[in-house]
Amino acid sequence: MRSDVIKVIDSHIHLDFSEFDARREQLIAQMRKLGLVNAVIPGVSSESWDRTTEVAKQYQCHYGLGIHPWYCNQDWQVGVAALERHILSRNKELSLVAIGECGLDGFYRDNWQWQLPCFEAHLVLAQRYQLPIIVHSVKAHNEVLALLKRYPLDRGGVIHGFYGGSELAKRYLDLGFKLGIGHLLLDEKAKKLPEAIVNLPLTSFVIETDLAMVSDLQKYPFADKINGSSLILHLLIEKIANLQKKTNVLVSEQVFQNTLQLFDL
Ligand SMILES: [Zn+2]
Repeated sequence: MRSDVIKVIDSHIHLDFSEFDARREQLIAQMRKLGLVNAVIPGVSSESWDRTTEVAKQYQCHYGLGIHPWYCNQDWQVGVAALERHILSRNKELSLVAIGECGLDGFYRDNWQWQLPCFEAHLVLAQRYQLPIIVHSVKAHNEVLALLKRYPLDRGGVIHGFYGGSELAKRYLDLGFKLGIGHLLLDEKAKKLPEAIVNLPLTSFVIETDLAMVSDLQKYPFADKINGSSLILHLLIEKIANLQKKTNVLVSEQVFQNTLQLFDL
């Protein structure tokens, strides 16, 4: 790593997906060279948790375990019971740092009746085992907020891939949550999020790539595509710094601290 490279943690990256099998090694090496010092891999379904754990161990990353709303089905209770066994057997396993990815997705109405109790069960486990939670909240903010109020969490969590205005952001922040800021901030058409970021304290954010597919890489301007810049995480820092009229170094340090604190790394 060059000494002038800004150190970053990716708070949400699906490195365990089999999509990456052929080039995981190369991708991680590249990201590390660009300043990535750690990453949190959120597990998405009970079938894939073993791989999540393995990949995290192999590449010295941290991970979460949960049932993503897209993977929620009528067997959710079996999954949640398995999740609790995983947590109990982690045996002071320090790499497991969160419950999730879990949450609600209003675009997926077909399994909605299972998404709700499944997310509720994740909230119960997060509080019982004092772990922060990684929340996927899409087209379901009212429902997510209502559940977060009903199940207050000592360790809070992160609303990953947050998109919304300052009003919505504040409702999550008031509940002790952080906002996971990803590529939507770099979308010129997405106006609400930059406006919100101007007005929120710097302690509110963590950053993420949410990389899930090899084809996602095209969305992400890596070093070879953008002059002098590097990882999407650096572009996010730069954008937050511009919006808040602060320096990149200050923003990167605070966001780094936020991530350490959120996951107790
Ligand atoms: Zn995700």
